[in-house]
Amino acid sequence: MTLDTRWAVAWLTRSADAIEEHAPMLSELDRAIGDGDHGENLNRGFAAVRAALSDLPEDAQPSDVLRVAAMRLISSVGGAAGPLYGTAFLRASDAVSGRGELGPSDVVALIDAALRGIEERGHASAGDKTMVDAWYAAAADAAAAAAEGGDPRAVLAAAARGAARGAESTDGLVARKGRASYLGERAVGHRDPGAESTAIILQAAESA
Ligand code: ADP
Ligand code: MG
Repeated sequence: MTLDTRWAVAWLTRSADAIEEHAPMLSELDRAIGDGDHGENLNRGFAAVRAALSDLPEDAQPSDVLRVAAMRLISSVGGAAGPLYGTAFLRASDAVSGRGELGPSDVVALIDAALRGIEERGHASAGDKTMVDAWYAAAADAAAAAAEGGDPRAVLAAAARGAARGAESTDGLVARKGRASYLGERAVGHRDPGAESTAIILQAAESA
């Protein structure tokens, strides 16, 4: 199946379903090293995204779908994650503007743009125990898969695996950004909730 507008809509719909399903777990992670609202925050945002998808024009392109998602996430998710995910989807939209169907390099560009948007918006880098860790590993694995000649689906699958690995890597880290940074060593042994939600969203992209 090609990565076209239908795929982009399916990605966001599956993300909304998966975030809804895993919201209690995400809030549980946030309760350990934050304020316990990450699942609820994202679920509200993706429910708004899901509702907006039915209003898309007939000739919408993948970039239009991503832009609508960005706007809804920015306006409906409270806390740190709203502007961060909103910026990610806005940059991702710009990265694939004008493309009706995404090729391997478009998938790499999309994920790379999202990563850079989050890094800039949050002033965070890989290793700070944030969602950046998941996006960073996703971008690295996607680029490697594309360099090996993988098709767009293979690049997306690599990104999803990378995001899962990046999320796992946050377990052993001390946080340098976000609420968890107030905990110092006490954050070690806990997964960053935003990194975990990123893994869920990129898994949805692969299975869409
Ligand atoms: P809040 O921290 O305002 O309650 P959420 O709980 O929805 O917001 O989101 C928390 C997540 O946001 C963290 O797990 C982390 O991944 C991400 N995050 C927080 N601050 C930053 C930052 N400065 N840069 C990148 N990601 C961040
Ligand atoms: Mg929180």
